[in-house]
Amino acid sequence: MSQKSADSTMSKIVSLCKRRGYIFQSSEIYGGLDSCYDYGPMGVELKKNIKEFWWKSMVRLREDIVGLDSSILMHPRIWEASGHVAGFVDPLVDCKTCKGRFRADQLESMPCPRKPSKMVTECGGELTEVREFNLMFRTHMGPVAEDAAVVYLRPETAQGIYVNYNNVLQSSRQKVPFGIAQIGKAFRNEITPRNFIFRTREFEQMEMQFFVKPGTDTEWFEYWKEQRIQWYDKMGIRKANLRFHQHGDGELAHYAAAAFDVEYNFPFGWKELEGIHNRTDFDLQRHQEYSGKDLQYFEEATRERFIPFIIETSAGCDRTLLTVLVDAYEEEELEKDTRTVLHLAPQLAPVKAGIFPLVKRDGMPEMAHKIHDELKKHMMVYYDEGGAVGRRYRRQDEAGTPFCITVDSQSLEDQTVTVRERDSMQQERIAVDGLFEYLRSRID
Ligand code: ATP
Repeated sequence: MSQKSADSTMSKIVSLCKRRGYIFQSSEIYGGLDSCYDYGPMGVELKKNIKEFWWKSMVRLREDIVGLDSSILMHPRIWEASGHVAGFVDPLVDCKTCKGRFRADQLESMPCPRKPSKMVTECGGELTEVREFNLMFRTHMGPVAEDAAVVYLRPETAQGIYVNYNNVLQSSRQKVPFGIAQIGKAFRNEITPRNFIFRTREFEQMEMQFFVKPGTDTEWFEYWKEQRIQWYDKMGIRKANLRFHQHGDGELAHYAAAAFDVEYNFPFGWKELEGIHNRTDFDLQRHQEYSGKDLQYFEEATRERFIPFIIETSAGCDRTLLTVLVDAYEEEELEKDTRTVLHLAPQLAPVKAGIFPLVKRDGMPEMAHKIHDELKKHMMVYYDEGGAVGRRYRRQDEAGTPFCITVDSQSLEDQTVTVRERDSMQQERIAVDGLFEYLRSRID
């Protein structure tokens, strides 16, 4: 896709997100806060459904993975042990001409903010020497802003899992191999946040750390690679837009023996969605060393003691949400006009059904309200009586609602309604009695 059409697709998605209440710029009435976004009434439901879909497949349907919710602020020594204090840095350059700040390793793909637009490597501005910039947000615990009280906003959720490894092991009666899953906020003071919610400074991660016996790590790594790409497929993301990218020697993080990214073909190019890493025994070795606590595992069957290796699957919730929106977005040419539609998988869609009286009289609103009140006990539904029914359909198409239920004059006579399906736009008559069952089976 050319830069121009990529920009235009993204700006259409950004404006749909605002118009339909998916995502807003943070602090908008104060001019906005760069790289921070708020999820609106539809966005919050979509995000919740994505997290629920992940949790179900990673925790609820498995007997060998348990959940955790660790705190964002943790002991500062954790970030020394993990290598983040010394090594969580990006190389940074400033441009003396335009005052822009860029990642030194990405200059070729960084547009210069001055017009006419060129990449930083082509604009000829004078760049400073490369400096190292730590991505962790520092703050202070307690009222005194002194070095002794420094704490960090966590830049990943993984460390909260490693430091709870023993607690979980002892309280949940798990045995290696087993995993711990966590969903939570992470913060990185990114030098160049960009592409809407793709790279932000505050974001949410869905991470799972799987503890295995050394020697079985390669096998488990392959297993998790397959599981994770299948997860995106099950979520309805088009296969052709997904691929693996293997990290070469130069790209591998200091802790990793092997790493693959799941990548998605965004309008702005193939980009990482999730990292799958064989982290070896690096993390537990380091926490054992820095905390002085024994983190070895005792395997009863063989009477062996070892530090488990860790296979990590680390996905971004916001990036997944952007993927879901981009993959679902279509401007569909119809016979007479064009409609904008979000083909969201019904299980992810924020609202499952719109409920409309055909007209605002003759008992139709009352019957539609009754259906709404019944269905809302089981799923998110939305009552709408404003405007022509065709316009109401289009509003729901754009919001990604998979079904619209219309109460018309026949409904009052025979207790049936029409159900219109978003993608095919086909309508069926369904008995009100069987409506919930019908929707439930189509949504699952
Ligand atoms: P990138 O190379 O894009 O900076 P990373 O390799 O640093 O990503 P990880 O540390 O492996 O990312 O984090 C795991 C996942 O967390 C990423 O695959 C991504 O989905 C998400 N993530 C990381 N940084 C951000 C961010 N700044 N904004 C939104 N999501 C992020």
